[in-house]
Amino acid sequence: MSQSDNTKNYREHLGNVDSQGGRIWLFPKIIKGNLYRYRTYLSWLYLAFFFAGPFIKINGKPLLLLDVLGRRFVIFGQPFWPQDFHFLVLLVITLIVFIVLFTVIYGRVFCGWVCPQTIFMEMVFRKIENLIEGNSIKQRKLKEMPWNREKITKRTLKFLAFFGVSFIIANTFLAYIIGWEELWSKITGPFGENYKTLIGLTVFTAVFYTVFAKVRELVCIMICPYGRLQGVMLDPNSMVVAYDDVRGEPRGKIRKNEDQADKGDCVDCGLCVDVCPTGIDIRNGTQLECVNCTACIDACDSVMDKINKPRGLVRIDSINNIRNKIGFRFTPRIIAYTAVMVILVGVFIGLVVTRTDVEAHLLRAPGKTYYKESEDVYSNIYHLEMVNKTYDTIPIRFEVNYPGVMVHTTDTSGILPANEEQKRVLLFKMNTKDIKSNKTTIPVAFYVDGKLVKTMETTFLAPKTSAK
Ligand code: SF4
Ligand code: SF4
Repeated sequence: MSQSDNTKNYREHLGNVDSQGGRIWLFPKIIKGNLYRYRTYLSWLYLAFFFAGPFIKINGKPLLLLDVLGRRFVIFGQPFWPQDFHFLVLLVITLIVFIVLFTVIYGRVFCGWVCPQTIFMEMVFRKIENLIEGNSIKQRKLKEMPWNREKITKRTLKFLAFFGVSFIIANTFLAYIIGWEELWSKITGPFGENYKTLIGLTVFTAVFYTVFAKVRELVCIMICPYGRLQGVMLDPNSMVVAYDDVRGEPRGKIRKNEDQADKGDCVDCGLCVDVCPTGIDIRNGTQLECVNCTACIDACDSVMDKINKPRGLVRIDSINNIRNKIGFRFTPRIIAYTAVMVILVGVFIGLVVTRTDVEAHLLRAPGKTYYKESEDVYSNIYHLEMVNKTYDTIPIRFEVNYPGVMVHTTDTSGILPANEEQKRVLLFKMNTKDIKSNKTTIPVAFYVDGKLVKTMETTFLAPKTSAK
C-alpha cells in the first residue's frame, strides 16, 4: 500500500499504520522550498547553540547547568538553588500556560520548527540518511533489496554515522548535566572510578540512536504528551497548516483535452503526502499527526508554480478563515492571548532579575522547646540557614536586637563562601528577669557586606516566672 493510499481511511488508523496494525516505514521526500530553507537556517543556529552551550561561560559560570543529582542549577550564568524551587514551579506554570495559549492561537508550529526531536530528525539524521542512501525512492528500493554488498555497505555506513552523531548528542546532553569539565575528567579518568558515567553515556547514546534510527515519527504521534493534547487545544480559529479545500476541491489530475473549469486547484499529485514525515494527507483536515513542519506547504507551492496557480493552496491559516474566505488577521483573541503570554513571561523575567543574591532563614531547632540552664537562665536553640547565590565570598553579620539576649555560637560574624549554603547553630540565653512572656518575639538583623538586608523574627520560649 502506498503512503498516499494509506491516508484514505485516515480516521481508522494512523498515517504510518496499515489496516492490519503494522507499521508502514515512511520515506518522506525532502522538498527544498522557502520554508525548508528558513527551517534549515534556524536549525543551524539551534544546533550551533546546542553543541556550543556547555562551553559558553558567563562570568566564569556555564550558560546552562542542570545537575539534578548534585542539586546545582545554572541558567544563563545565574546559579539557582533548591531554595529557588518556587522559581522552578513558576517557570513550569508559566511554560504550561504559555504553551496552551500559544497552541490555541498558533497551532503546533513549535513541533515542526523548534522541537529538538524534529530538528535532529529532519535536519540532521534525515539529511545523513539521504546522503548515504540517496533520495526517498532509492531508500525504498534499498529497503526492499536483499542483503547484497551495496545494502550492507550503505547500512553499515548509516549505522556508524547515526551512532556517532548519537554519541556526540549524548556527550553534549551529559555536559549540560554535569558540566563539560567534569565530563572530560570522567571520560579521561580511570575506568574503575568513572564507569558509571560511561555506562550513562552508553545508555544515552543507545536511546538517541533508537529514537532517531527506529522510533522516529512515533515520538510525535504516540509518545509526546504535547502531541496527544492537540485535540483539546486546537479549535477552528487556531492557525494551523491547512489545506484550502474551498479553493482546492473538487481535486483532480490535469488531463489533456479535459475541461478544467469545474475542477479545483488541487491536481491530486500527492506531493504533499510524499513529503510528510508523519505520513498523513493534510487534505483530510487537521490531524493529530501533523507536526506543522510546513513541508507540505513547500511541496504544494512548487506544484502551484508549475501549473501557474497562486501559491498557498496549503498554507498556515485557520479553518474558519478558509471557510469564510478571509486572510490571516490579528483577531482580538490573538491579541489578548499574546498579551497574556507577554505579561506572563515578563513577570517571570522580572522575578528572576529581582531575586536576592543572599538568603537567610532563622528557624527554631525542630522538636526543641527550651533548656533550663540554671535557676535564672533559660536557653533556646536555633538554626541560621544562609545561602550565598553569588560567585563571591561575602562578609556577613547578624545582630540580636532584644535586651538581655545572650548569643552563643561558634561564629557570630564572618564570611559566607561563594555558591555555598551554610547552617549555623545559635544558642540564645535569657535571664528570667528579662523574660516578660512565655513566648518572646526576638528580632534578628542580618547584614551583608555591612548593609542590613533582612530583619528576621523568631520566638524565645521559656516560662515566665512571676516577679520575685
Ligand atoms: S501535514 Fe504537512 S505540516 Fe503536517 S506533518 Fe505533514 S508535511 Fe508537515
Ligand atoms: S501538493 Fe497541492 S496540488 Fe498536489 S495533492 Fe497536495 S494539495 Fe493537491
